[in-house]
Amino acid sequence: MKLFMLWDMEGVSGLFRREQTWHWEERSTDEDYKEGRELLVADINAASITALENGVDDLIICDTHGGGGNIIMDQMLKDDRITYVNPRGEYNGKFQWMPGLDEKVDGFLTMGHHSMYGTPNSFLPHSNFLTWRHVKFNGVEVGEMAIESTFAAYWGVPYVMAQGDNVAMAEAKRLFPWIVTAEVKQSVDYDRCKGPSPEEGRAITKDKLIETIAKIEKNEFKPYEPGLPLTITMDIEDQAMLKKLTADPRSSVNSEGLVEATVNSYADVLAWTGSNVGINIDPPN
Ligand SMILES: [Zn+2]
Repeated sequence: MKLFMLWDMEGVSGLFRREQTWHWEERSTDEDYKEGRELLVADINAASITALENGVDDLIICDTHGGGGNIIMDQMLKDDRITYVNPRGEYNGKFQWMPGLDEKVDGFLTMGHHSMYGTPNSFLPHSNFLTWRHVKFNGVEVGEMAIESTFAAYWGVPYVMAQGDNVAMAEAKRLFPWIVTAEVKQSVDYDRCKGPSPEEGRAITKDKLIETIAKIEKNEFKPYEPGLPLTITMDIEDQAMLKKLTADPRSSVNSEGLVEATVNSYADVLAWTGSNVGINIDPPN
C-alpha cells in the first residue's frame, strides 16, 4: 500500500501555541519554533511507524508548512520505504506540486491541518495564504484541506484521513464525510489550543491511522471531487497578489468584484490559485 501524507504544522499533537508554528512572526522565538518542529517530527515519526507496521510499504512524507523546511532530517525515521519531499519539486523530470503524488497512491492524508479562513473560536484558521479570504468552490466556502485534496482527486486518489484540532476536524467531517479524522487537541482561540497531551494525540492518531488503512483495504474511500467545471472564487486582501492573479489569463472578475476562474481539471485548482504568488506550475499532463 502506498500513502501520501501531506504534513502541515498547526494541527500536530501537543502544539498548543501560535508561536511554535508561525515562526516568521516577531513574537515567535527560536526556542518556540524549535519546540514546534520537535512536536512535528515526533508526530510524523509516530505516524510513519504505525503506517509501516500495518501494511504500508511505500510512504511519502511531504512537509508543506510555509513551503517546507520544518522537519529535522537527522531526526526523521530512516527507512527505505519512506520518501521525504517538499510541496513543490521535480517529479518525473517536471516541476510540480506534491512530487510523488500520482495514480499509484492508494490514499491521500492531510495531517497536522487547521480550519479555513474566518472560522470562529479556532486555532490559526486560514486558507493557504493569510491574505486569502473566503475561497469558494462553486459557491461553497472551503479551506486548505479542500484545496489540496483536489490535486489528489486529479490523480483519482481517495482522500482518506485528516488530523488536527477539533474545529478543523469538524470542517473535515462536514466537507468530506467519508474520511477518518484524528482529533488530537481542542481549539481555545486564534492563538491557543489545549490538550490532550502530545503522547495522547499520537495514540489517537495511531488508532485512526490503523482504522484508515483497514478501510483502504476494503475500498471504503473516494477522492474529493467538488464537481467540474469548478468555479473558484477568492477575496484577496493583498494587492500585489491580486494583481498577479488577475493577470492570469484564466481569471475574471465576478459581479461582486471578486476574482475567479472556472477550471475543467482538478489539477488546475492549485495551478490557478498558486499563480497569485507567482507559482506557475503547469498541470501534470
Ligand atoms: Zn501551516
